Amino acid sequence: MTAAAALMAAAWLYQALGYQGSHLVYAGLMAAAALVSGQVLARRAVEGLRMRVATIELLVSVAAAGALAIGEYWEAAAVTVLFDLGGYLEWKTLERARAAIRELAEWVPRTARVRRPDGSEAAVRVEEVRPGDVMVVRSGEKLAADGVVVRGEAEVDESALTGEPMPVSKAIGDRVMAGSVTVVGFIEVRATRVGEETTFGRILQLVGEAQEARPRVQTAVERFARYYTPGILGLSAATLLITRDTRLALTLLVVGCPGALVLAAPVSIVAGLGHAARNGILIKGGRRLDTLAAVDALAFDKTGTLTAGRPEVVAVHTLAGPTGTESDETAEASLLRLAAAVEKGSEHPLAAALLERAARARGVGSIPDPQRLRVYPGRGVAAHVGGQRVLVGNRRLMEAEGVHPEPRAAELAALEESQGRTAVLVAVDGRVAGVLALADRVRESAARMIEALRQAGVRRTVILTGDGELTAGMVGRSVGIDEVRARLLPEEKVREIARLKAQGYTVAMVGDGINDAPALAAADVSIAIGAGGTDAAMEAADVALIADDLEKIPYAVGLAKAIVANIRQNLAFAVVVVLSLVAGVLGGVVHLASGMLVHELSVLLVILNGMRLLRWRPASQPASRRPFHPRSGRTLSPAPGGSVP
Ligand code: ADP
Ligand code: MG
Repeated sequence: MTAAAALMAAAWLYQALGYQGSHLVYAGLMAAAALVSGQVLARRAVEGLRMRVATIELLVSVAAAGALAIGEYWEAAAVTVLFDLGGYLEWKTLERARAAIRELAEWVPRTARVRRPDGSEAAVRVEEVRPGDVMVVRSGEKLAADGVVVRGEAEVDESALTGEPMPVSKAIGDRVMAGSVTVVGFIEVRATRVGEETTFGRILQLVGEAQEARPRVQTAVERFARYYTPGILGLSAATLLITRDTRLALTLLVVGCPGALVLAAPVSIVAGLGHAARNGILIKGGRRLDTLAAVDALAFDKTGTLTAGRPEVVAVHTLAGPTGTESDETAEASLLRLAAAVEKGSEHPLAAALLERAARARGVGSIPDPQRLRVYPGRGVAAHVGGQRVLVGNRRLMEAEGVHPEPRAAELAALEESQGRTAVLVAVDGRVAGVLALADRVRESAARMIEALRQAGVRRTVILTGDGELTAGMVGRSVGIDEVRARLLPEEKVREIARLKAQGYTVAMVGDGINDAPALAAADVSIAIGAGGTDAAMEAADVALIADDLEKIPYAVGLAKAIVANIRQNLAFAVVVVLSLVAGVLGGVVHLASGMLVHELSVLLVILNGMRLLRWRPASQPASRRPFHPRSGRTLSPAPGGSVP
């Protein structure tokens, strides 16, 4: 392109210096410029023709060749050089978005330190880390794989994945992600996922795919372009036949190029989805963008979504023990032992809470393994423990198993629920032996999220939960949700989603994948929320939020709306420009070079408009937020100076 521009400049200079004598030199220089910059175009035009598509390059090549043929050398040079320049600018701008992706890709470390079975440490290449390996991570080091902390404690900066600047405390049992950095502390991490399988790997893949993502508007544009290019070729041929004005016909060809139209959607999508990914919001596939932008009803799972998902056992009520002669303490211990044994087979947050309580309680001893375990989604778990048949779950589980809680048990359960707690009944050999009460904290950001959703245009919010009405109602009220549907089995949650859809809403379901996977699948858009969520849910969801941050939900909806609006602006602008140029040419106001220039400027404007999305901010972004750690329940302060032992 520089060579062609230099040739053009030389031609101008030659003319300006007044060497009028030999027009041949001027024409020769200009023609050379056209040929130099035009050959690439021509090659691409031919490639397109082989695949039976009339590309923009074809239009420009025909126009340049025609201009040369009728002796309009400067026009021929201008057309090709300007087109080249436009391509260069386009490349340069998109390159900025791509550079951001590359920067992201280079973020993961190349080596990791792995603890060998003999206890020694060895530095290995990242590709050699296998799931199950224990990685040693010190202050200031980056994690090379996803995993679970098996030793130590650290403040970990996850901002590369979540966009959240504040470090998060990690202790034994917590999940950590590749690409995050230990600010202070020392941890050993058992790798669970490596390479492309890691959350970070998925982000990279998705951002890459965003470049090829095709939302509905764009596929429409492509279909349109398929007819449009031959259309313009036809129009220009007809003009030539009728007016016998080659110049006019060529000009039509050039200004008719749908450059801005073709770019309109891709630039917005690349910029928008890139922005989302850097903020820990993975929107999978452009197709979902339109739907996400149109969402006007949201259904939420309660446990683990609106609540922190770290319930704690707050009361243990024992009813007449199996023998009736035990002391309260031994009755409580044996109740907890039996319940915990059954919960060993469940991945429900309630199960984790029960196990934790049993581990702490006095006199429980070692917890036996359950036999003939059966999980009832939305109800609880049943199993045999040391010859006894034990049920742990809600009233629907008891009903399903033919156990009738005596009045005292029902009373206790109702009492606990009236205080917003989840009551779990434990039945042993057909009789309810105890009632456990579990409390989970409502996330402090939940109410803000619901308010932000309203501002983003969401008209209806619903809780879909398997928990009781009273508990769910209290959560709903404290958060400001429109409607509460309680005591739902997983398939009933699906029915509720269908009901909302039938009422004409575009429904998004937010869940963690535990007992709500079918509802997630039934919604127009499924949103899985980080940390507590199951891997399967994160994998299957249309939108995955990496950070455990509810406020990313309105953020995602708002951003999707902004992206779709941006695409529409670009499309409208591109159509108006092309139509006015064609009209201008036919009306004799626009000429070849000026038309070309306007055309290229419109391409540039479309790109710049798309790039605005990189800096998008939600309307109601609070000035500063301090992340809240769900387990410790304390607000984190910025990384302390000292190191964590
Ligand atoms: P949510 O919709 O709030 O996420 P779930 O559908 O996961 O709730 O569970 C609904 C109810 O089923 C719980 O409130 C509890 O009463 C009972 N339940 C489910 N799983 C278990 C379990 N592992 N242990 C005890 N109770 C359970
Ligand atoms: Mg749940």
